[in-house]
Amino acid sequence: MTVLRFGGATDVGQVRTENQDAYHCSDLLWIVADGMGGHRGGEVASSVATETVVELVGADGPAAVAEAVEQANATVITRAFDDPGLAGMGTTLTAISLVSGEGPDGTDVLRLVNVGDSRTYRLRPSDGVIEQLTVDHSLVAQWEREGRITASQALTHPQRNVITRALGVDVVVEVDQWDLSPVTGDRYLLCSDGLTNEVDDTTITEVLRSMADPTEAAAELVARANAAGGRDNITVVVLDVVDAAAVSGTGPRDLPAPVNPESVHTGDDPPPAGESPPAAPAVPRSRFTWRVAVFLAALVLLIAATAGAVGLWARNAWFLGVGPDGTEVVVFQGRPPDGVLWLEPVEVATTGVRVIDLTEVGRRALDEPVVWGSQLEAEQQALRLGEAAPPVVASTTTTRPTTTVPPTTVPTSAPGA
Ligand code: MG
Repeated sequence: MTVLRFGGATDVGQVRTENQDAYHCSDLLWIVADGMGGHRGGEVASSVATETVVELVGADGPAAVAEAVEQANATVITRAFDDPGLAGMGTTLTAISLVSGEGPDGTDVLRLVNVGDSRTYRLRPSDGVIEQLTVDHSLVAQWEREGRITASQALTHPQRNVITRALGVDVVVEVDQWDLSPVTGDRYLLCSDGLTNEVDDTTITEVLRSMADPTEAAAELVARANAAGGRDNITVVVLDVVDAAAVSGTGPRDLPAPVNPESVHTGDDPPPAGESPPAAPAVPRSRFTWRVAVFLAALVLLIAATAGAVGLWARNAWFLGVGPDGTEVVVFQGRPPDGVLWLEPVEVATTGVRVIDLTEVGRRALDEPVVWGSQLEAEQQALRLGEAAPPVVASTTTTRPTTTVPPTTVPTSAPGA
């Protein structure tokens, strides 16, 4: 039985007017998300992503946290698609879920996932300083890994806020995942870059060592970031693996409402993890699940259906115009004057009616073509114009264009008839 104690805090900081971070603490799931994009886009992206992960983990279980993050990506994209005011929004997200029985010998596992440059650290009693577990998906982190800049240069680099992976950007997102053994005494820290850009590892370690209560430690870290300038939103979640024997009673089993931290968690029934060594971090793997496949399939079907409907509408129309030689009335299939999108009108029949024989009314009928519901109806109208009979009103008219069609082929010096 794994027991976790936790606390969280968030603050807008000293410079910004809106807090675009979001976090969640509950029995089985802990999340920090840092939104970006537009006036309200960042706030929407981080909250939508967090709520989606909370909802899906509640429905499918903590083991499916990476799949939940993938679905959160699709949800953020869909939300931005539905509301142009949210276009370009995105969010980072780092999370830990408590998974029962998937560790060695059926022990519990802390499943860590990450997209973006929010971070998860671990502090063990024997460690001198916190250890960053997640890999930053940021430009400066990539340059640092490639040896192009040093760690100290990365801290102050003007491009340090440019991230290379986020939710809401691409239809398919790669989610990093690690399985960690919960060891009593370990303390985990999930945070947005509003903390790590202001406070160094030594100070963070000192706060985490000196404050036993996770809620107080989280609040103190936020205060330290604010004292250092608070130039970004600051969000912190502190998570302790505690001795089950020292905890009386059990915590609630259902996922509580987002944001408000609970105090104590009781995991499921596997035996205590004890002091077993942590599993080596797994190599981050690319994920492509049925949720993503369904989303892509739906997108393709929507595009295909829309294109099909436009094509049908554009082709189900005929009108009269002047042929290529400028002398004969011909029938075009398509929408006057120039078609729809890539579907240009095409000549489908000649009529034998000469433009020179038309009355003034007949030539005006070519300038302002009526749309007919069939080729036969268009041809019959051409014959009526050729016989100088008054043109009849189209019974199947759907559109009456206002521009000349096709203007380049109408004789400019046609004698009056
Ligand atoms: Mg930030």
